[in-house]
Amino acid sequence: KGALSVRGLHKSYGGTPVLRGVDLDVAPGEVVCFLGPSGGGKSTLLRCVAHLEQPDAGLVAVDDEVVGYEPRAGRLVESSPKRLAMTRRRMGMVFQQFNLFAHLTALENVMLGPVTVLRRDREAVRERSMELLGRVGLAAHAGKRPAQLSGGQQQRVAIARALAMDPSVLLFDEPTSALDPELVGEVLGVMRDLAGQGMTMLVVTHEVGFAVEVGDTVVFLDGGVIEEQGPAKQVLRSP
Ligand code: ADP
Ligand code: ADP
Repeated sequence: KGALSVRGLHKSYGGTPVLRGVDLDVAPGEVVCFLGPSGGGKSTLLRCVAHLEQPDAGLVAVDDEVVGYEPRAGRLVESSPKRLAMTRRRMGMVFQQFNLFAHLTALENVMLGPVTVLRRDREAVRERSMELLGRVGLAAHAGKRPAQLSGGQQQRVAIARALAMDPSVLLFDEPTSALDPELVGEVLGVMRDLAGQGMTMLVVTHEVGFAVEVGDTVVFLDGGVIEEQGPAKQVLRSP
């Protein structure tokens, strides 16, 4: 579980190409860190992989389920909405701005997806969600609302929320960029733990230290194409 392939991903905004044919293969348990200049297309790539954004062309395959736009008989044919929805559920996304519901407690935020989307038994979900909050170090804060938590704690709730949907792949879009410097470490620590537990992760980050230490692969994206890709130490070697 957790294999991901991207083929020929293209995306333009108002005629301006932002992704210009991105191909990527990620093995189960692999951690891929995306670096590159602002505007290079990192965030757009993640949103297309998560199906939060519709690419103009290209395929994304998770666990051998292929979705996207396939050339068939000379034209692009879109995957069925059902297939899209199934695959979207395999992706857990963590955003720069935690995107928690302000009126719900940490526990309720984590429980919401499994209860409303997966329609799982509420008590079983509650138990599992408490377990996940424990895993990110927040068991004692389950009853608090986002406003009562620090940014680092809120982001850890967001990670627990993503895990609650049992994703095959976790996608992080600059997860520590909105945090005060002293709170960055606690979030990176949780991400390091997840990597150690074999989670497949795609991480857009400016934290080069994290990319070197935790990333199996570093992808340098610039101008909507992958300029360089390889083991962190190779891509980030001094010239
Ligand atoms: P990065 O994450 O590498 O900084 P982005 O994927 O956020 O790059 O952005 C790449 C380019 O696409 C930028 O020029 C950005 O302004 C543009 N862009 C991103 N999202 C949109 C959007 N929804 N509408 C129009 N342009 C967008
Ligand atoms: P990130 O820091 O993740 O790269 P951005 O600040 O580039 O995010 O973009 C934040 C949001 O604004 C995204 O939803 C993106 O799609 C949208 N956006 C970015 N650039 C543009 C743009 N030029 N026109 C319209 N929407 C944009």
